[in-house]
Amino acid sequence: MSIPDLPALHALGPAQQPRYPDAAAVDAAVARLRTFPPLVFAGECDDLTTKIGAVARGEAFLLQGGDCAETFVGVTADNVRNKLRVLLQMAVVLTYAASVPVVKVGRLAGQYAKPRSSDLETREGVTLPAYRGDAVNGYDFTADARVPDPQRLVEVYHASAATLNLVRAFVTGGYADLRQVHAWNTDFVKESPVGQRYEAMANDIERALTFMQAIGADPDEFHRVDFHSSHEALVLEYEHALTRIDSRTQLPYDVSGHFVWIGERTRQLDGAHVELMRHIRNPIGVKLGPTTAPDDALALAERLNPDNIPGRLTFITRFGAGRIRDGLPELVEKVTAAGVEVAWVCDPMHGNTFEASSGFKTRRFDDVIEEVQGFFDVHRSLGTWPGGVHVELTGDDVTECVGGGEELAEIDLSHRYESVCDPRLNRVQSLELAFLVAEMLRK
Ligand code: PEP
Ligand code: MN
Repeated sequence: MSIPDLPALHALGPAQQPRYPDAAAVDAAVARLRTFPPLVFAGECDDLTTKIGAVARGEAFLLQGGDCAETFVGVTADNVRNKLRVLLQMAVVLTYAASVPVVKVGRLAGQYAKPRSSDLETREGVTLPAYRGDAVNGYDFTADARVPDPQRLVEVYHASAATLNLVRAFVTGGYADLRQVHAWNTDFVKESPVGQRYEAMANDIERALTFMQAIGADPDEFHRVDFHSSHEALVLEYEHALTRIDSRTQLPYDVSGHFVWIGERTRQLDGAHVELMRHIRNPIGVKLGPTTAPDDALALAERLNPDNIPGRLTFITRFGAGRIRDGLPELVEKVTAAGVEVAWVCDPMHGNTFEASSGFKTRRFDDVIEEVQGFFDVHRSLGTWPGGVHVELTGDDVTECVGGGEELAEIDLSHRYESVCDPRLNRVQSLELAFLVAEMLRK
């Protein structure tokens, strides 16, 4: 299948695109991106499709997590390691406590562009263009910083390459070895109640591993994990420049990440994002908010996965804790009745954001858990599989979401609020979530 060219995509009036002041600079950045090697291989994307196929069949669980928005200054060894570490801890909790294979996907190595609900941002009477992620403009609240600069897309590539390189080294080079389960439980987390619960579980795992080794079993799976990258495919210049024909199969893949998704604001059936994504062979996701009509979901599935390949398409629902129990059943019922192959994943973050009285954007840990519980209850009652969770988290001790075992209050938010976009679960809250989801999975 041929790939539509960029002008054809722009002719569809894509939502949420940067308005670049200098067209020649855009062309130069895109031309440069087109010369760069792929960040991921087509074969790796196919492997992930197969794994998500198991999720769609109810045989595996997807864990997808990372920052709302990565930043260029966040590309440091510590930051990447901390995020990977919390994801590995969560994955081991889910795998051990619920005995299901966990498909691990980082929301990283490309998550630099943000859709915004408003084009403008006003602070203390000054109005400027909104920050759209480091892929587009700068976070500083100055007129200069907020001008979209296409050279940033080149920087996204390099930042993603550096992140993915480190992740690949960690997951294949011994850090993700199951015998390291204790080593992941370090510093502030270790002393928390959930850290102690993790420690007890890690002791059990270690005993089991010692036994396995004593009987001579030492499979490769003990020493390395499969870990995949993902991001929202938002800026068309970037995603298009990294869409390539695979030499092995002659099929197009977006080689900027293993899994890419279309956001709630850009999933118009006749829009440019659906048009580009329908041509690529990667596993893809679509975010579905509470206003999604079942017919819209069916039309998206038909357009994006006409061959109904399991694992190709993931629906990431983000209804909000207060709406999921009423809204989700009809959607799941109709999609299931139509025989559509899809993995259902719960994003319990984006329907639960509110502004604290201090002005910080936040989420309540209890709302997040309540949405996941609603998601499980709806799927259990329909006999469908609650296939995974998609969460915004960080490996650090930030104070962005309220509640959780540490009982973070709204007045604590200013203590360490570092997100440039949406509030993330900190490492303790993320581990707590993993234990709670493991219990839901066991039932
Ligand atoms: C996001 O994942 O950060 C996001 C913007 O989500 P949604 O498209 O669901 O609003
Ligand atoms: Mn977000």
